[in-house]
Amino acid sequence: MPQLDSFIDSDCETLIQNVPGKFKPVFEKRNHSDKEKRAVYRYFFSRRPMKLPPSLKNRLINLYDPLADRSKRFPDGLRFCLNVYAGCEHTCKYCYVNGYSRESVGYSPHVKSGFREKLVKDMHDIKYFGVPVSPLHLSNSTDICQESLETQYRNTLFALQKISELRTLFSSVVLLTKNPRLLCEDEYISLLNRQSMRPVVVQVTCAFWRDEVRRFYEPDAPSIESRLKSIKLLTENNIDTEMRIDPLMPSSDIAEEERGHRRLNHYSLPEPQTREDLVSLIRFAKSAGVKTIIGKPLKIPVSNKAAQAKIMFGALFRDSFPIGKRKVQGGSWRLPECYQKSILSSVAAICEKEEIPFKFCKYDVLTRK
Ligand code: SF4
Repeated sequence: MPQLDSFIDSDCETLIQNVPGKFKPVFEKRNHSDKEKRAVYRYFFSRRPMKLPPSLKNRLINLYDPLADRSKRFPDGLRFCLNVYAGCEHTCKYCYVNGYSRESVGYSPHVKSGFREKLVKDMHDIKYFGVPVSPLHLSNSTDICQESLETQYRNTLFALQKISELRTLFSSVVLLTKNPRLLCEDEYISLLNRQSMRPVVVQVTCAFWRDEVRRFYEPDAPSIESRLKSIKLLTENNIDTEMRIDPLMPSSDIAEEERGHRRLNHYSLPEPQTREDLVSLIRFAKSAGVKTIIGKPLKIPVSNKAAQAKIMFGALFRDSFPIGKRKVQGGSWRLPECYQKSILSSVAAICEKEEIPFKFCKYDVLTRK
């Protein structure tokens, strides 16, 4: 193969033709000009690949969900994701990141080496290449506000400072955390409150109402009280805040003919989200000024790194299918479609009654401009 160099326009066009099909929508979805397509290639893909198809570069500001097949189940275009840390000290028992992470997510959460230099370089390159303005998400595969990492290293604060300096590179910024308490500190609040930072949204994941349930499923994550108090503080400071009730868990409140499995106590699992819990959470969100509720049903990675989740939920997922065989899709066990729909529609109905919008997680991502 003659060596192609993406810095030569005609070579770059050949390379774009050869990117794997799952990445094609990144170039095609938004009617980018040829120049913009070349910028996208030059930022994300190898400059002089040794073989085709070309592979992604190792960027800190990476493509959102680079493993997803955009030609099939995730019809997304260009979108950035910045994972500030590696691993996560919250070690939620159901953590979906274990489906694709190199190590079990709770194993040795740490800072990324050269984070600050690499971040500055990536932002410089986005600008220099002229990558089209697109949404930025922090962070899908870790928590940006891990108490011990962020209080020691302040890399999320650094990232927010740099983003605020070059905010025009991104059309919107979404921050995702289970520890919003840190974002309520003055340095973060003042950055988030800058007019030039808008639109910026803080999404707080709070799947439970009762803290004893949180202690079982997310033993190392911040308390519910701390999250709710911080949500109030954020909204009082005029920061757009959304609540993720995520994951939406299996529930004994769904009719037995729809859920298939026995009551959760049969599997030694505390009932995670009773109807009363969901009503209380959603009412709280509404009264606190939260803009939207977002959720998606629980899925369990089949990876061995999710061994704990598989032991906890294996029998329940199996029993939820009449033939007693679990369904695997995209590397995860899924609940039956009709059961997922019942879970989603029960939350949507509460949101409708409480007059607060509800969005399915994937829809929220795909429609965020
Ligand atoms: S907060 Fe998110 S990334 Fe961290 S362990 Fe929990 S589910 Fe995984």
